[in-house]
Parts: sequence; structure tokens; C-alpha cells
Amino acid sequence: MHSLSPRHFADADAPYDAARYVLFGVPYDGTTSYRSGTRGGPAAIREASLNFESYLVDYDLDLADVPVCDAGDIEPFSLPDAVVAQVEDVVRDICRGGKVPVMIGGEHSITPGAVRAVAPEWYVVCDAHLDLRPEFGGTRDNHACACRRVYDAGVRNIVIIGARSGTREEYAFAQDLHLYTADEVRKRGMSTVVREVAGIVGNARTYLSIDADAVDCCATPGLGTPEPFGLSPSDLRDLVRALAPTVVGFDYVEVCPCDAGQTAAVAARIIRDFIGCHFRHGREESLL
Ligand code: MN
Ligand code: MN
Repeated sequence: MHSLSPRHFADADAPYDAARYVLFGVPYDGTTSYRSGTRGGPAAIREASLNFESYLVDYDLDLADVPVCDAGDIEPFSLPDAVVAQVEDVVRDICRGGKVPVMIGGEHSITPGAVRAVAPEWYVVCDAHLDLRPEFGGTRDNHACACRRVYDAGVRNIVIIGARSGTREEYAFAQDLHLYTADEVRKRGMSTVVREVAGIVGNARTYLSIDADAVDCCATPGLGTPEPFGLSPSDLRDLVRALAPTVVGFDYVEVCPCDAGQTAAVAARIIRDFIGCHFRHGREESLL
């Protein structure tokens, strides 16, 4: 099912069976609407991970001591619905083993497959875009429909953070969800928003999806659909740290390595932070 990538995510050297975290890549950008290239995201994020110390001072933890397995990449099919099904199968296996899936994209269209496998109580997503279209480009599995597919999968407790782009219909749909726009985050401060979201989610099983374009494209320009006036990398890290303890599935998608490496660096660093924070403070997931 997996092919081993030439480079491993740094310090993710545990064998699959012994791992508590299974990281895998989905080099897929088949429904890209603007700039293609997110298929290069997993390789770029792994490459960027090699730059960082294995010691995480914030958790007094060496990632080399955390059982993380880099299972390599899925070899994606061409059609998006088939890729979503591939992802669902892989994540179901990971969850069955009581492990936490850490998926790196690839475009956002892959997330609903992972969410269906994890079956969380809450879906929290950071994204410049609402991704609530019923269909786009002739498919319901387009990256622009990711959040809508999660909703359709029955996960109705949804928090969207950092959004600043969508159609009138998408914004109307989002009224039934918990929406924190990028402007609202800036006005109220991320610490306030983080406290509020953590309060809403509580101790419930949460899937956390990070679309790299939630961050301002002036800070991290390696994106398929860049948007200015977004979150800062620190905002994003604050949120990931606050929610990590209750997260049972995590992904970081939409890194398009056409920049000088900033976007992949932020992604790799936040993924490492998520794993460290979750290992220190996270819930033990019971076997599904
Ligand atoms: Mn998205
Ligand atoms: Mn987006």
C-alpha cells in the first residue's frame, strides 16, 4: 500500500507496529484550480523537516524518543473520488491500530477521506477558503468542496478559522457553523479565539485540518491558491498547540513548493510541534 519515500520525515523512524503516530504523504493535486504543484508538498515538507533540532524545548522532549513512523506516500489514483477512498482505507488501518494519523498533502480534497475514517465529534479547519461548495470543476471531490464533504459525512460540528474567501452561498452555509474569519482573529486576537474554540470543542474527539493558505501568502507564498490578509505562522501554532491534546486525526495540506521553502518550513515545524504537544498532553485514543 505504501511506497517508501527517499527521504523520511526527520526523527520519524519508529516501525509501523510500534508507532503511536503514523505520518504519510498524499502527493495529489488532480483538482487544482489555479497553480498546480501541491503534489510536491510531502517531499518538500520532509526535506524541510531535516533542518530542525529533534529536541523540542517547549515540551522538554526529543522527537527521536517519540514513536513516529513515516509510512511513505500513497500512490494516488487519477480521479479524486478514488484518491479520497484510498486515503480513507489507509487512515482506517491507522486508527484501528490505535494510532494517530498525520497526513501531509497534496491538496485539500483528500481530507474528507481521513475524516470519514476517524469519525470525529468535531472538525476544526484553518483555511483562507470556506471550501463549502457543493461541487466544483465537475466533481464533488474538488479541493474547493473539502469542508462541505466533511459536513455531508455527518460531522456537523465544524469550526473554520482564518477564512477570507468564499461565494455568497458558502458564507450563507457557514452561518450554521462556527466561523472565525481572518479579520475577526486579527481584531480579537488569536489568544482570545483559541480560548473560545478550545472551550467549544472541550474534550471531544477532534480532527484538525490545516490548509497552508490559512497563513498570509506574504509570509508563506508556496500555495496553490494564495490569499493575503491571513493568519501569521505564530497564530497557527498557538491554535495547534491549544487543540493538540484532544486531536485524534491531523493533516497539513496545500503546500505548493514554488517558494524559497518558507511554506514547507512552517508546515514541517508545526507538524513537529503538533506531535510533541500531543505526546506530552494528548489523549490516549481507544481502539475503534
Ligand atoms: Mn482548503
Ligand atoms: Mn484554502
